[in-house]
Amino acid sequence: MKSIVFKSLPVALSQKEAKIAKRLTKANMPVLKKLNRLYALMDDLSAHVEKFTPCTKGCNHCCTYPVTVSEIEIQNIENSSGIKRKSIILKQECSKFTPCPFLKDGACSIYDARPFVCRRHVTMTETNVWCKPDNAFEYSFPLLSFTEINKSYDLIRVESGRLSLVDIRDVF
Ligand code: SF4
Repeated sequence: MKSIVFKSLPVALSQKEAKIAKRLTKANMPVLKKLNRLYALMDDLSAHVEKFTPCTKGCNHCCTYPVTVSEIEIQNIENSSGIKRKSIILKQECSKFTPCPFLKDGACSIYDARPFVCRRHVTMTETNVWCKPDNAFEYSFPLLSFTEINKSYDLIRVESGRLSLVDIRDVF
């Protein structure tokens, strides 16, 4: 399935993905803007793979999994949603099935600012059966993955000066 998806990508989009890490490294712009450039490309790729994945609005199983965020993404969520992080960040003893605090009425309430891991979590299976929390940790199911997208995320975190990741539930 994954190879069908990759082969079906429009050339321009595929080339954009192939060049994104180099482009962002060279770009003279604030790192927050680079993050949003990366997100925009991921959105374009997601729009293209829509027909190959069971991921759709209203399916929110993965919003109960661990959700890591970096400092630059926390800033991005604060800026775009107006919601500020907790004054004290304490590691919570939340179970892996605790819903994300931004999951409201079954949908993401910060969709445009959702973190990298949420955008990257595109299931490449016929149905969402393996995404269900009871099944999700029993089997490693295929997810969409792009090398240069992943590299770009790492580069952005390095450039921001804060590589560490925390769970979104510990911050908001
Ligand atoms: S940020 Fe949005 S998409 Fe990501 S886990 Fe939370 S509710 Fe789900």
